[in-house]
Amino acid sequence: RRLDSRSGLSAGLLGETQTPISSEPLESGYEVTGELGRGKFAVVKRCVEKTTGKVFAAKFLRKRRRGRDCRAEVIHEMAVLEMARNNPRVVNLYGAHETDHDVVLVLEYAAGGEIFDNCVSEELLPEAQITRLIRQTLEGVHHLHQSNLVHLDLKPQNILLTSLSPPGDIKIVDFGLARRLGSAGELREILGTPEYVAPEVLNYEPITTATDLWSVGVIAYMLVTGESPFAGDDKQETYLNVSQVNVDYSREAFSRVSELAVDFIRKLLVKAPEDRPSAAECLSHPWLWYQPLCLSPEPVAVRSVRERSCGTKWAAPLEDKENF
Ligand code: ADP
Ligand code: MG
Repeated sequence: RRLDSRSGLSAGLLGETQTPISSEPLESGYEVTGELGRGKFAVVKRCVEKTTGKVFAAKFLRKRRRGRDCRAEVIHEMAVLEMARNNPRVVNLYGAHETDHDVVLVLEYAAGGEIFDNCVSEELLPEAQITRLIRQTLEGVHHLHQSNLVHLDLKPQNILLTSLSPPGDIKIVDFGLARRLGSAGELREILGTPEYVAPEVLNYEPITTATDLWSVGVIAYMLVTGESPFAGDDKQETYLNVSQVNVDYSREAFSRVSELAVDFIRKLLVKAPEDRPSAAECLSHPWLWYQPLCLSPEPVAVRSVRERSCGTKWAAPLEDKENF
């Protein structure tokens, strides 16, 4: 039984992909250059397609992890990326290669790096840039949630920028923990990084789309203050801070931004998932449309929020605004 629950499909993973998986090594078509990042089971490298000179990011995913065959997890990550293919805020998947050790995903290259670099006190962005990035993140999350996908690992390391300076558009990456909701009963798992994860995840309670919105609140807090709201000196302290929703909203931490920022973050960092606004509801929060003294390059006309937030391909159902 133990083995069963560990096999991919019974864990609620998607099992089918359309992208053909080539058995040719990546190096036959690409020149692999520097390393862009790495996690526990993956290394991401910059690569250049030989025929076109186009730059991509190649994510090398190890198939064996902790002595276990995890190919199903890798296939799932591909399948989620395919489901999100028409989401302009999610990195595109161009192809895949397989070797004995790895499956290599060829991904759209996000040249601006992680927004994590903008969460360090010396590099904080102006408020108009922060609200633009949060708007785009919410658009991406809204689009995922409409397909019943939850990301479950949203954090500043997994939100990238298409260009660095001036900051480009965001691209959501890393769908290793993403899940499809609905099909196989309730989803409860201990996943993600304690610092960024919602109380219901730590408490092994049902996971819903609201779980991602907690993380958006954490990301907004970090972009505004340069501090991680729940990070403690050790795991236990972090765990306690999250489950008690122990957040510093002091004036000093928020001196550089409008009071609307605190209001926005307070509405997301709420213990009960059902009391958090949805992504669509968040998109109508006044903070995201507030113009500080310096004008942002994006023209904001006096049109409705609905029109403005639908500049991209998707249509947001913003009728239910009761949370704001
Ligand atoms: P992991 O599952 O190991 O966290 P990620 O998919 O998050 O793997 O990738 C690790 C890091 O590699 C990211 O945090 C980012 O810095 C970099 N990276 C990932 N994908 C891209 C990409 N498409 N373009 C540029 N950098 C990327
Ligand atoms: Mg990651």
